[in-house]
Amino acid sequence: MPEAVKTWQVLELINVTEALFADNEIENPRLNAELLLADTLDIRRFDLYLSFDRPVGENELSAYRNRVKRRLAREPLQYITGKTEFFGLPIEVNPAVLIPRPETELLAEKTLAIAQGLKFSSPRILEIGTGSGCISIAIAHSIECQIDASDISKDALETAKKNSAANSTSEKINFILKDILSEPANFDDYDIVVSNPPYIPIDEYNLLEAELKNYEPRSALTDESDGLTFYRKILDIWSLSTSCSALLLEIGDNKSKSVETLLKERKIGNYAFHNDLLRIPRVLILERKR
Ligand code: GLN
Repeated sequence: MPEAVKTWQVLELINVTEALFADNEIENPRLNAELLLADTLDIRRFDLYLSFDRPVGENELSAYRNRVKRRLAREPLQYITGKTEFFGLPIEVNPAVLIPRPETELLAEKTLAIAQGLKFSSPRILEIGTGSGCISIAIAHSIECQIDASDISKDALETAKKNSAANSTSEKINFILKDILSEPANFDDYDIVVSNPPYIPIDEYNLLEAELKNYEPRSALTDESDGLTFYRKILDIWSLSTSCSALLLEIGDNKSKSVETLLKERKIGNYAFHNDLLRIPRVLILERKR
């Protein structure tokens, strides 16, 4: 008689994968195992707990094994499942776009607050380096506005457009292929400018863990220089503008002092840094004096 092939159940699979991930120093091993399995079985993570003894079919098992292998090779979970959430909204991700970070929600939140504080409806907003489109989509999902969202990457813009359509914000966001360093925008065409630019210095980039360095788009993470290239450029354009109301920038870890120096060099006043949940200065807001 042929030996019976083992049928795996949900709980067993989670436990085995958790141990495997832990041995391989994957952070949050159980959460990773649960999210990968739930996505493979096309159920919500919560529902795994209602089906602990559900047998996992052969096809499901081979798809799951394949994904566990990818995770062990350090591919980020979000690229394997192809999705994440930002501001409570579903965002599709792939290696053409940076995976939206939770701390970036502060930038979206502050931009929204400033937009709502303007005394007119439908502000014009420019986002520089939109990536997955997450920031623009979060804003457009919440208020009346007209957004130009630019990026240097055609593939990123395609993903951003899909995300915008999936979140019903296509009417409000116009995506533009553009390199801000070589084709500066006119900030006076806008009421608000927002950006989460590539701010990791090249020497720090080279030391990043494999999950970031081998999978996320290099041009979204580093400026190949001291991490300040985009701040310099954007602040130069801001200095030339006369009517744009506010500029909001995400700030890299340990970058607030050097960014403050750039502000002083350009004699820019009326600015404030806002801390993220880890109390790291994360968002810089410049507002025009009226
Ligand atoms: N705006 C996108 C984000 O915040 C992409 C930023 C980037 O690629 N540097 O996630």
